[in-house]
Amino acid sequence: MKKHNFSAGPAILPAEVMAEAARAVVDFNGSSLSILEISHRSAAFMSVMDETSALIKELMGLSDDFEVLFLSGGASSQFYMVPANFLDAHETAGYSNTGTWSDKAIKEAKLYGNVSVLASSKDSNFNFIPTGYDIPKGLKYFHFTSNNTIFGTEYHWTPDAHGVPLVCDMSSDFLSRPVEHIDRYGLIYAGAQKNLGPAGVTVVIVRKDFLATGKAKRVLPLMQNYETHLKEGSMFNTPPVFPIYVSMLTLRWLKNLGGLAAIQQHNQEKAELLYREIDRNSLFEGTTAAADRSLMNVCFVLKNAERDAAFLDACKAAGCIELKGHRSVGGFRASIYNAMPTESVETLVAIMQDFEQKMG
Ligand code: PMP
Repeated sequence: MKKHNFSAGPAILPAEVMAEAARAVVDFNGSSLSILEISHRSAAFMSVMDETSALIKELMGLSDDFEVLFLSGGASSQFYMVPANFLDAHETAGYSNTGTWSDKAIKEAKLYGNVSVLASSKDSNFNFIPTGYDIPKGLKYFHFTSNNTIFGTEYHWTPDAHGVPLVCDMSSDFLSRPVEHIDRYGLIYAGAQKNLGPAGVTVVIVRKDFLATGKAKRVLPLMQNYETHLKEGSMFNTPPVFPIYVSMLTLRWLKNLGGLAAIQQHNQEKAELLYREIDRNSLFEGTTAAADRSLMNVCFVLKNAERDAAFLDACKAAGCIELKGHRSVGGFRASIYNAMPTESVETLVAIMQDFEQKMG
C-alpha cells in the first residue's frame, strides 16, 4: 500500500526526484560513476553546484546582491554562526521568540552579544505569532523564524524593521512561496530536509553588503566564518555532494511546476482542505490562532485525547504515517510540504470524517 508520509523532516521529496537520485547513485549522468564517488572538484559536480545556486536565485528572484552558500552542520549551526559573524559583544540583536527553534537561536546569540527579545508567544505555548511591537533602530539585525515546525504557526507577512537587516530561519517553509520584500533581508538560512533535499546541506543566502559592512570584529575559526565559504564558493571543505545534487533535482522539479507562485497556490489549497476539515469535524480542533496557521505543519488535537491512539491506528491502517504531534504540543501534526500530493491530504481528511462517523 502507498504510504502517505506526513513527517516533519526529513520529509517526502517528489517521486521523480527520488527516482532520478536513485539512478545517479548507480550511474551519474552516464559516467559509469556514482554521484557518491565523484570528486567535489570535478567539472560534473561543479556544474551541479552552479545550477543549484542559479536555480535558487532564479526561483527566489535574488539579484547579484545576494550570494548562496551550501554549508553543513544543519540549521542549528546557523544559530551560532549568525551572531558569531555579525554580533559584537557590545552590540544588540533583536529576536522574536515564536517556538523551540527561535528559543535555541536566542540562547546561542547570548553567547556572543546582547539579545533583546522583542516579542514572544512562549507563555501561550507558542500558539500565535506576536505583533504590535517596535523594532528599534540601532539593532544589528532582527531574527525571526518564518515557520514554526513544532507548533504550526507561520509568518504571513514580512516584518518591517525600518532598515535593520532581517535574519530569517526559513528551514521549514523555504521555497514554499515567493519571498516578499527580499531587500529587507540580510541573511536567510534553511536546512534542506523539508522542502529541498536530504538532511546534510544548509542553504545560507547572504546579502553581500551586510557581510561587507556588518561583520563583527572578532576573530573566527575559518569554518565558522561566512567569508571563508563565500571566497571559496562553498568549497573550502568538501561540501555535502549528494544532498546538493538532490536539491538541484528538486529545484528543477519546482521550476517545471511553475516556480514559487505556483507551489504557493498548491500549498494553500492543500492546507485549506485540511484546516476546513479540522474546523468542521466535531471531534477535532486546531491548536493555533487561525490567522497564523502554518501552510506547512498543520497541528490539531482530538477534543477527547483518550481517542488519540485509536485515531493514529486508523491513520496507520490507511497508510498515513508520522502524524503524532510533537511532545510539547501533543495531538497530531500533518506536515504537508511542497512535495505532499493533494491526494495524501484528501486521504487524511477522509480518515477524519470516517472517524467522526464511527465515534459520533
Ligand atoms: N529551524 C527550524 C525551523 C527547524 O524546523 C529545524 C529542524 N526541524 C531546525 C531549525 C534545526 O535544523 P537542523 O536539525 O538541520 O539543525
